Amino acid sequence: MGRYRCGKIVSTIGPASSSHEKLEELFLKGVDVFRLNFSHGVHDWHAQVYEAIRAIGKKYNRNPTVLADLQGPKLRIGTFENDKIILDEGDTFRFDLDKTPGNTRRVNLPHPEILEALHIGTTLLLDDGKLRFEVTDCRKDYVDTKVLVGGPLSNRKGVNIPQVRLNIPVLTEKDLKDLQFALDLGIDWIACSFVQTVEDIENAKRIVNGRAGVITKLEKPLAVQAMEPIIEASDAVMIARGDLGVEMEQEELPTIQRRIINTCHRMGRPVIVATQMLESMVLSPNPTRAEISDIATAVYSGADATMLSAESASGQYPFEAVSIMSKTIAHVEADPYCQSKLEEDTQLPQRTTIDAISAAAKEAAEYSCATAIVMFSDNFESIVRCARLRPQIPVVLVTSSIKVANKSGLCYGVYAVHENIFENKEFDTSVMSKAAKDIAKERKFAKVGDNIVVLNDLKGHSVEICQL
Ligand code: ATP
Ligand code: MG
Ligand code: MG
Repeated sequence: MGRYRCGKIVSTIGPASSSHEKLEELFLKGVDVFRLNFSHGVHDWHAQVYEAIRAIGKKYNRNPTVLADLQGPKLRIGTFENDKIILDEGDTFRFDLDKTPGNTRRVNLPHPEILEALHIGTTLLLDDGKLRFEVTDCRKDYVDTKVLVGGPLSNRKGVNIPQVRLNIPVLTEKDLKDLQFALDLGIDWIACSFVQTVEDIENAKRIVNGRAGVITKLEKPLAVQAMEPIIEASDAVMIARGDLGVEMEQEELPTIQRRIINTCHRMGRPVIVATQMLESMVLSPNPTRAEISDIATAVYSGADATMLSAESASGQYPFEAVSIMSKTIAHVEADPYCQSKLEEDTQLPQRTTIDAISAAAKEAAEYSCATAIVMFSDNFESIVRCARLRPQIPVVLVTSSIKVANKSGLCYGVYAVHENIFENKEFDTSVMSKAAKDIAKERKFAKVGDNIVVLNDLKGHSVEICQL
C-alpha cells in the first residue's frame, strides 16, 4: 500500500539532521512536515535546508511540507564559550547584559526590560523548565541567582518567568524579518509563538496575506483560556507543550491537550501535538514506555500530527525516532478501538456542499470497501473539511496547485499528488475517473479489482465509485 498511516509526523531540523543525506533519510523514514525553527540557525542555513527538502520532493515526485516556526517574544540566554555548561544545585549563577560568551558563572540574558522586572525571590525556568533558578540579587545590568535544580545548559536555551507578565508584541522585529525571508523562500506554514489574543493571530494573518497557512502555537495560559476564537482565527494549531508545561501546572496539560484537540477537530483545524514526545531518544536509541503511550494518546484523541523537537534536531537518534513514531502511529490506527473512537468523535458534517460530498465520499468508501478516496481539488479549505471527517482510508489529493499540494502534508490522511490532469483539455468526468484509477494504481493505493471513490471538487461536485 502507498500509505500505512493517517497521522502525520512533523520533524524539527537542526545540526543532527540538516545535511542533504540526512534530510533524505528522514523523508524516507516517514517525515511528512519539516519544521525549521527560526529561533536557531541563520538565514543561509534555513535556505539551504529548504532547497534540499524541495530537491528531495522532486526526486521522489512527492510534496514534503515545510513549516517555519517564528521565535516570537521568547526570552533566551546567549551562548557559552564551550557551547554547554553543567550546573549543580546550590551553585551561584549570574544572568547579565554582557554579550560575550558565558561560562559556569554567568551568561548573557539580552533583555534589559526583563532584568528590570525581576526581584529577589523570582523563579527563572530554563530549557522548558528543566533547570530552576531563584533570584538572590538584582542590579541594573545583572541578576544573581541560586541554582535550585541544576543540569546541563547549552546555547540559546529558553527562559520562562511564569510570575512576570511581559508586554512584548507577538511578532518581534526579528520575527518580521524571518517571516519575510520564509515567505520569500516559499514555505507552506508559518507558526506564531506565544499568541495571546485573537488580534495577535489576525495581525499575523494580515501580514502573511495568504502566502502560507498560519499556525497558532498554544503555549500561554491566556490563550488557552480564550482558545475557541483563537483556534477559529487560525489555519492550524500546535499544542506547544514545552512552554505550556512551564507556564501552567503540569497536571493540567493532558486535559488541556484533549480540549484543544477536540476544539480543533470540531472547527476543522489541523492540530499538532508537540514537545518531548520521544525526549529520551535524544540520548538513547530506545524510547520509554511512557513516551510511546504519549504518542498513542495523541493518535487515539484524533490529532492530525505529532512532532519531534530535539529528538530530530540535535539528538543522537533522529532516524530511529521517526521510525518509532511512525510504527506507533500505524499500530494504534489499526486498532479497531481507535477507529470506532474516532468515528464516535467525528464531527457531523455541516450544511455545506463540500461537507455533503465529503460525507458522501466517506460513506461510499466504507460500503464499497474502497481502498482510497481520490480527491480532485485546488481548494485547501475543501481538503481540510474532508480530512475533518476522518475517513479511515487515505485521501489521495490530486491538485494542479503546487502550493495546495505542499501545504496538505499536515492534514490527517491526505497524500498529495501534484498533477494538472486537465492541462489544455476540457473538463470531463470520464477523464477524471481514468486519471484517478491510474494514480491510485501507480502510487500503490489500489490494485486491479479494488474499488476507489472519486471525489470531484474541481467542477461542480460529485462522488463516484470506480473499480480498477
Ligand atoms: P521552541 O520553543 O520554538 O520549541 P526550542 O528551543 O524548544 O524552541 P526546538 O525546535 O523544540 O527548540 O528544538 C529543540 C532543541 O534542538 C533546541 O533547543 C536546540 O538546542 C536544538 N535545535 C533546534 N533547531 C536547531 C537549529 N536550527 N540549530 C541548532 N540547534 C537547533
Ligand atoms: Mg521546543
Ligand atoms: Mg516555544
